[in-house]
Amino acid sequence: MKEEILGVTVNKETEQQLLDNIQNDIEMGRKSRIVAINPEKVMMASKDPALRTLLNESTYQIPDGVGIKIASRMRGGAIRERVTGIGMMDALLQLANKHGHRIFMYGAKKATVELAAQNIQTKYPNLIVAGTLDGYEKDPEKIIQAINEAKPQILFVALGSPKQELFIRENMERLDVNIFQGVGGSFDVYSG
Ligand code: UDP
Repeated sequence: MKEEILGVTVNKETEQQLLDNIQNDIEMGRKSRIVAINPEKVMMASKDPALRTLLNESTYQIPDGVGIKIASRMRGGAIRERVTGIGMMDALLQLANKHGHRIFMYGAKKATVELAAQNIQTKYPNLIVAGTLDGYEKDPEKIIQAINEAKPQILFVALGSPKQELFIRENMERLDVNIFQGVGGSFDVYSG
């Protein structure tokens, strides 16, 4: 269930409802991609139709930023709860921990992603960090191969926006992954 804010669609569901849908996607073997929508992206997309398409064609557009909640309310919309990109990542890690899902972390500097992975594994011992790869590897074949060999259900891509959304769109067909989330600077946060 979605509503439109200046031409960008945003999901109305609460975080818990989205998580239920995502777990269902994993069980059904569906591929879904998650993008966080904040006011900056909405403003950029209003001037850039290609970016608007890139955002709108995602499976889930989560309402990141208080500005999205306020814009929804002003337009008579139904979004009442903010769902941040990092909040959604943490919720997905909890889901993975509950079900023993495999995750892969791609992006950021090598030391950052490795430290973030260690911290996540300590915090969530029941999920499986199936692999990590820094965001400066240039050979797309190596990237695809590393991810497919790890067989994760959930892939977090931290390349910044819109680079991460472009990577996901271009490669999702070839990647043996269910859930794709672009997470911006989140690995830097988990590494701290
Ligand atoms: N990054 C990367 N490869 C690149 C460019 C950026 O891995 O080619 C990483 C960078 O190291 C940082 C993240 O992408 O960890 C970008 O975070 P930023 O906060 O700029 O993203 P935003 O959330 O603002 O989109």
